[in-house]
Amino acid sequence: MKVSAYASFQEKSELEPYEFELKPLQDHEVLVKITHCGICHSDVHLIDNDWKISSYPLVPGHEIIGIVEKTGKNVKNLKIGMRVGIGWQAGSCGHCEYCLMGQEQFCEKHIATCVGRPGGFATYTVVESKFAIPIPEDLPSDTTAPLLCGGITVYNPLRNFAHPSIKIGVIGMGGLGHLAIEFASAFGCEIIVFSTTKEKEREAKELGAHHFVYLPELTKKEIRLLKRSFDMILSTVFVDLDWNMFLSFLKPNGRLHFVGAGGTLNIPIPNILENLHISGSIIGSPSLIKEMLEFARRHKIKAKIETFPLEEVNQAIRKLRNNTIRYRAVLFHK
Ligand code: NAP
Ligand code: ZN
Repeated sequence: MKVSAYASFQEKSELEPYEFELKPLQDHEVLVKITHCGICHSDVHLIDNDWKISSYPLVPGHEIIGIVEKTGKNVKNLKIGMRVGIGWQAGSCGHCEYCLMGQEQFCEKHIATCVGRPGGFATYTVVESKFAIPIPEDLPSDTTAPLLCGGITVYNPLRNFAHPSIKIGVIGMGGLGHLAIEFASAFGCEIIVFSTTKEKEREAKELGAHHFVYLPELTKKEIRLLKRSFDMILSTVFVDLDWNMFLSFLKPNGRLHFVGAGGTLNIPIPNILENLHISGSIIGSPSLIKEMLEFARRHKIKAKIETFPLEEVNQAIRKLRNNTIRYRAVLFHK
């Protein structure tokens, strides 16, 4: 079966129309006709080969929503016609200790939806049925697609570490950051956003933030006031910031948690001796994605999106690169 897609043919290039032949469906897989696909900054990292794992032609896309069109003969959990979502992960070995404990994202043999295989900037995809998650009926496809990667990535650490009495900082208000504000708000946290874009202040507050710190104009006085005041700071950026300053903003026992996939840490050990925690995480398991979608349904969490037909993918990526998307680009099929 021939599939139409958009692919990058070399590092840092624009995407071009591309056709590929889909591999035959295995017994445990489903064929999904894609209707929507969010554009995550990880897609840009892949196009640019930032992580040195890209191969070309590269069809990005891992925030997919679509309709099951065919099921392999061993698939029991999905039926033809069901609406499903697919995130970063499309498969895993199924029997390692992490697969067995429901932490499939740590499986050494995990299959990433758009690494070494075509992803969601296409008309069809094939995934292991376990990684195609049914979408609750009252969640719209376009505003839900970004939850499949961006949403689960921030939900996972918030679910582990956030509770109503904490004060949390969110660094970067992009695709992940704006969803972190929405989820942390639903968890009842006090939220302070650290951003490099002043114009985002009003919408940060509409989404549930209590304060907004414009990083380029942070004064010495403000730094003093922020010291030892946060229980948790969640970084969604992929650049190097002054991490020692952010550590100084944590209360004893506090946590600086990274989900942004870039940058380095250079931290003098004495800076973390007040029982501070530095941690990071990747996405979340299929069962946590299911839970997150149900939580999103109950708390009416929707990504703020700009939509583009698949043919305008380069325009959308350009906006993402220059940080003018508000707050997630979502591709759809005309
Ligand atoms: P995004 O939509 O581009 O948002 C990133 C935000 O970072 C921007 O909106 C901007 O926020 C801030 N930023 C950008 N350039 C900056 C700079 N030079 N200095 C300071 N801040 C800057 O990206 P995203 O899709 O949210 O993804 C963010 C990161 O998470 C990427 O590295 C992505 O690969 C990673 N990611 C990780 C996982 C995981 O499993 N851990 C999953 C998905 C994505 P302001 O305008 O507010 O400053
Ligand atoms: Zn992603």
